[in-house]
Amino acid sequence: MLVTLREVPADAEISSHKLLLRGGYIRRVTSGIYAYLPLMWRVLKKIIAIVQEEMDSTGALETLLPQLQPSELWEKSGRWQGYTEGEGIMFNLKDRQKRRLGLGPTHEEVITSLAGEMLRSYRQLPITLYQTQTKFRDEIRPRFGLMRSREFIMKDAYSFHSNEKSLKKTYEVMDEAYKRIFKRCGLNVLPVDADSGAIGGVASQEFMVTAEAGEDLILTSEDSSYAANQEKAVSIPKEAIPLVNPRESIIKTNFSGKIEDLCLSLELDPSQIIKVILMLAIIEEEKPQPILISLRGDQQLNEVKLFNTITSVLKTRIIEISPITPENINLECLPPLPFGSIGPDLSDEILAGAKTWSTKFLRVADYTATNLESFVCGANEIHRHKVCANWESIGNKPQAFDIRKAQAGDKCIHNKNQKLLAKRGIEVGHIFQLGRKYSEALGTNFTNESGALEAFWMGCYGIGVSRLAQAAVEQNHDEAGICWPSNIAPFEAIVVIANMKDSNQLDLGEKLYQVLKDNKVDALLDDRQERAGVKFKDADLIGIPIRIVVGRDAKEGNVEFWDRSSRTSKLINENSVVSEVISVIGRD
Ligand code: ATP
Ligand code: MG
Repeated sequence: MLVTLREVPADAEISSHKLLLRGGYIRRVTSGIYAYLPLMWRVLKKIIAIVQEEMDSTGALETLLPQLQPSELWEKSGRWQGYTEGEGIMFNLKDRQKRRLGLGPTHEEVITSLAGEMLRSYRQLPITLYQTQTKFRDEIRPRFGLMRSREFIMKDAYSFHSNEKSLKKTYEVMDEAYKRIFKRCGLNVLPVDADSGAIGGVASQEFMVTAEAGEDLILTSEDSSYAANQEKAVSIPKEAIPLVNPRESIIKTNFSGKIEDLCLSLELDPSQIIKVILMLAIIEEEKPQPILISLRGDQQLNEVKLFNTITSVLKTRIIEISPITPENINLECLPPLPFGSIGPDLSDEILAGAKTWSTKFLRVADYTATNLESFVCGANEIHRHKVCANWESIGNKPQAFDIRKAQAGDKCIHNKNQKLLAKRGIEVGHIFQLGRKYSEALGTNFTNESGALEAFWMGCYGIGVSRLAQAAVEQNHDEAGICWPSNIAPFEAIVVIANMKDSNQLDLGEKLYQVLKDNKVDALLDDRQERAGVKFKDADLIGIPIRIVVGRDAKEGNVEFWDRSSRTSKLINENSVVSEVISVIGRD
């Protein structure tokens, strides 16, 4: 079933997605849902085998958990609402008894509850369980084929410990195992500091395949000793340019709402301005909380840092934080706000008549804003700005946090002489130290050495197997097609019979194919009744690492040996085919 396409499919934007469709690896069934065709399934099985070998070598035990999960477990962990309402990504349904179930996007709840039933004593710890299975996530924007799909293959592992030290040890072991897995899959992967997101926990690291098409922005120091996802990255910001005019006043501005326009009309630098962003936090079982955020004009809000900050300030579970717009102000029956001219001192009075919201702003600022001695900011009246304002003159400073995005060009916090560089990455793996978040929420305990009940320490470790396969294509392709790393190629070598009507070619081709298989080379024979040119194009497109062309020189026992990734060829004798192939593909 080798069906390659000549046309570039219209809905595919990035090279790897186009090539997998054109090469007959995958077929879209509906949005974000793909069939893995026979070639793809061979690739996936090879990746899974590498992952299993490396997981087994750490002593982890393979298991298989149900994909249908009862809502009660997710209610206990407090994640049901966030995962099923609003922007929640869990597919969920009701059974015939009207009980609610979710299709597993991840398995912390199920495994923690099982561990609580089975692991009773510290003597059974530490233990790591893992599985490889289909996960379901109703992504808001499924795209790029297997990169962000709604049904995908993940390897997920969970470890249980009696203390934090043991958790840290396993986390290190997993880090090393992950590096081996990605290396064996032929990927160039960068480990980066990461935010733990909805999974939670204290420390986490992502493994990024660096590629232009990556959805994540990574910041690294010039020597790569520091690398972090922008969601998590910290930095030393550029110095602000001090304001020269010392006198505070209110001026009329014809301000469009864009910082650049304000800078142009008042001859300012963005670092001299404080901009204000209004957001609304939707909180579980509490009133929505309006948040007033002050940022230095040249900085951008990091919404992940903001979410974590607001969670720790309010000490509650936040479902989501989204911008306050004129539309939702209207729905709350509040007076119109002077958008574009809002200052950090916007009065709470404006919220007095709110229908459902809390009537006080939660005021937060980034350090870059609170560190300014004198600044320009909105005067809370349309087309009015204050120049040379300061925190004393406009009221008290809001509480300051690091809530800005680190940017390329900022200095590295570990070494001021190093600037941060931006790269794009595809997240193929993520390891977390969860701590006791799930074991405490689900009340799962073991008996410790002194006989007391204690909650487990946990870690979890994921690899996006199907995303990894496509990331390998994104990192290894050229204009002619895919150049699979040989360990995960669907076949290691392809024998192409150039002219099927020539009996010498046919005989030698079939013989070499057999000899390769006898020597445990994963070989494919192209004996289709097609023109040689068509076969070569297909072999290049599907990306088999080595092509043996049995053509005109077959009668002398000579064949062409073509290396897909270097695109070089040489004439070799049939007797050296096996040794040449093995020397290129290597054997682990
Ligand atoms: P992302 O930030 O890309 O949405 P995530 O951080 O939510 O991913 P994890 O919960 O860490 O994902 O899942 C473990 C791994 O599963 C990820 O590192 C990634 O490789 C893979 N993965 C996650 N979501 C998808 C998806 N929608 N399609 C394919 N693979 C995915
Ligand atoms: Mg992740």
